[in-house]
Amino acid sequence: MTKLSIRDLPLNDHRVFMRVDFNVPLDDGRVIDDTRIRETLPTIEYALRHGARLILASHLGRPKGKPNPKMSLKPVAERLRMMLDRELAPGENVGFCPDCVGLEAEEMAGKLEKGQTLLLENLRFHSEEEANDEKFARQLANLADYYVNDAFGAAHRAHASTVGITNFIEKAAAGLLMEKELEYLGRAMEHAEKPFVAVLGGAKVSDKIAVIENLLTKVDTLIIGGAMAYTFLKAQGAEVGASRVEEDKVDLARRILAQAKAGHVKVLLPVDHIVADRIDANAKPQNIPSGQPIPPGQMGLDIGPATAELFAEEISRAATIVWNGPMGVFELPPFAKGTFKVATAVAENAGSTSIVGGGDSVSAVTAAGVADKISHVSTGGGASLEFLEGKQLPGVQALNNKR
Ligand code: AMP
Repeated sequence: MTKLSIRDLPLNDHRVFMRVDFNVPLDDGRVIDDTRIRETLPTIEYALRHGARLILASHLGRPKGKPNPKMSLKPVAERLRMMLDRELAPGENVGFCPDCVGLEAEEMAGKLEKGQTLLLENLRFHSEEEANDEKFARQLANLADYYVNDAFGAAHRAHASTVGITNFIEKAAAGLLMEKELEYLGRAMEHAEKPFVAVLGGAKVSDKIAVIENLLTKVDTLIIGGAMAYTFLKAQGAEVGASRVEEDKVDLARRILAQAKAGHVKVLLPVDHIVADRIDANAKPQNIPSGQPIPPGQMGLDIGPATAELFAEEISRAATIVWNGPMGVFELPPFAKGTFKVATAVAENAGSTSIVGGGDSVSAVTAAGVADKISHVSTGGGASLEFLEGKQLPGVQALNNKR
């Protein structure tokens, strides 16, 4: 890690502004999934244990720059009170401020005592947050002495709370969760242990072109499943029936395949398919065996069993695995087997470093009950994709370097 870490900051008695990702799903004012809060608890508890006066800030949903009670972080403050270590932070020690800037925020932040926490209201209730407005960033910075970013999922956005604020505060460091993300993804991109296998899936080639191009310079094998595989199969001249093909990307797919060949990267595409005439849980799935064309009117909605075997075997030989995107329409049980088989294969390769990113693949490893066997389940969908594209994330760049 070249970036300053929360562990490098003299936290004791200092006010610390911590950008977290509390963008959790709410239903009728209740948090229905607290995974994101749980993931950043170690950083919060680290800061409190070291005597910080802690100010937490996050966005939630897309309120479009206006206060919206349905996207208030108040229920998150309530949940946080229940989740924090009781001895470290009794419930009354977690306050909530109804705005993230302004007099009240300044007063409440100013009165914070050592070991106390204040959660600010949704940053995106102000349009200045996403505009990375300088005055707003200064107002946020004025609340604290130091800045910690633990919101990897927001690090690909240059907003006031992820970038602007760092210009007006003494030190800006990575939180423990951010550090873990950067370590795993950074190691895979810079010096992955070989063989390095990347598994990509999902809806569109167009979303993942930059990822494929960057990974082709690093991996030994590229496995492609999901709808995006059909654009590649079409480029190879296969008959793909009514499968989802991005016609304007067929040439590009052909070029990518040629580039892979020239770079001695093995590319694995589906050899058999589970097809149906529509995307529907009640549609009648049919197996198209290896070497057979997909009939007109039928679309490939999952990889077939022979493909799942082929992919699993390649995954079992990898030392580093990066997986992003489902192998089929895994939301519907008739088309979920391929994705689950890949999830299990990644988990069963216990000797490898495995990194799973992207909302759907993360749901798949969770639903398959194997998330705890994955070396690193990334918390940021968009941010992890940009990392795999080889881009610098503005929220990471903005942090101070270690000396
Ligand atoms: P992405 O957001 O690009 O990772 O794509 C995820 C979506 O791709 C999921 O909602 C899947 O249902 C969908 N998907 C995966 N494979 C297929 C396929 N063969 N045909 C249509 N949709 C698919």
